[in-house]
Amino acid sequence: MVKLEYLKKEYEKTRQMPGKWPLSSYRYKFNITHFQPFLKALKEKRLIGLKCRSCNTVSFPPKLVCGKCLVQPDQWVALRDTGMVATFTANYMKDETTGELQSFPVIAIQQDGADTTFLTQLNPAVKFEDVYVGMPVKVKWKNQPEGNLGDIEYYDVIDDATKKMKLQNE
Ligand SMILES: [Zn+2]
Repeated sequence: MVKLEYLKKEYEKTRQMPGKWPLSSYRYKFNITHFQPFLKALKEKRLIGLKCRSCNTVSFPPKLVCGKCLVQPDQWVALRDTGMVATFTANYMKDETTGELQSFPVIAIQQDGADTTFLTQLNPAVKFEDVYVGMPVKVKWKNQPEGNLGDIEYYDVIDDATKKMKLQNE
């Protein structure tokens, strides 16, 4: 069982920040049409990333602007439905009946063929203790895709051939 300790600091009074916040003067226009090919592909259980012509970085999910060179990527590239765990952490939830803390993995995936990562869900049956960086995973599609990122229900663990080879050699 994992025990977590939290530090709670009490303040005598609420802190105040003087100043003007001219939020109403900002307007954001988000052009969703740019993502239409990506959403359409998801609905067909296909994955595509956006490639930057300037630095060849492939972003998945697609980014409107390349973070490296600040240009708009415009080349769609097909990606496989496999990838690997780039990093991970644990979410803790208290069991209502036993009061025990249970850990659930939260993973960042790097899709094969893409250079970026994104936070997503792992198969809920996989224990936190069994997750590792480099773990090969595969998309588990929703039965009825609707054309959004939720169409990826979660990532499933696939057989790790390199691990098997190691075991045989030991
Ligand atoms: Zn770039």
